[in-house]
Amino acid sequence: MTVETYLEGQNLVADFKGKILDQICRFMENKTGKKSIAYSKLAVLIFKPGFDKQEIIVETSDRVEKAGLEVIFSSPMKYDKETARQHYIDLAGKPFVGELTDYLSSGDCFGMLVYGDEAIQKVRDIACGIGGSTYDLKPDGIRWKYAVWIDNKPDLTRNVLHATGDVTDVKGELNCFINGAAQKLALQKVQKMENIKADKTVNK
Ligand code: UDP
Ligand code: MG
Repeated sequence: MTVETYLEGQNLVADFKGKILDQICRFMENKTGKKSIAYSKLAVLIFKPGFDKQEIIVETSDRVEKAGLEVIFSSPMKYDKETARQHYIDLAGKPFVGELTDYLSSGDCFGMLVYGDEAIQKVRDIACGIGGSTYDLKPDGIRWKYAVWIDNKPDLTRNVLHATGDVTDVKGELNCFINGAAQKLALQKVQKMENIKADKTVNK
């Protein structure tokens, strides 16, 4: 049984699970010299409701590839209100969270799991623009390009693309659109890629 499978069976809060998973994986890597799933190399992109999905998905996938990342799994998805609330659980209590979860659960979405070095920083740059942030979008980002403009400002709530902001969010975000056997297979694929890379490094 791998560490990942063991922790999967434990009733732990997703954030916490992500954090210890990453720490245990680093520990095991040092002990065995074998790479394990590095959650820090995974990131999730979610295309939110109300946009012409195909065009934005194609453009974003192209940027993902150019950034040296790989799409491991992608799928159409839909949030119900409860899953939307789970997705934004870290924002619970904020005055805008009702409007935000109403929006997220208002239509079709599309999820993508990507993998590669500095995955999180790279997907943040793709969404917000290089060096941009939620509150200070840069024109080279997908959110700016497809923004809904209100009073000459991009609407903060209805931004087209969610991008993982922290390693501890990956697991919970994944659970919103890929679960059970499919999630296991996707993570096994990542693990295989990590092992191949580790073997190549050792055999150099
Ligand atoms: N958001 C909002 N009003 C705010 C701040 C955030 O509607 O004042 C929404 C916005 O859609 C953002 C999401 O809440 O994408 C999640 O907030 P977070 O700070 O995690 O930003 P993100 O990681 O999406 O850039
Ligand atoms: Mg965030």
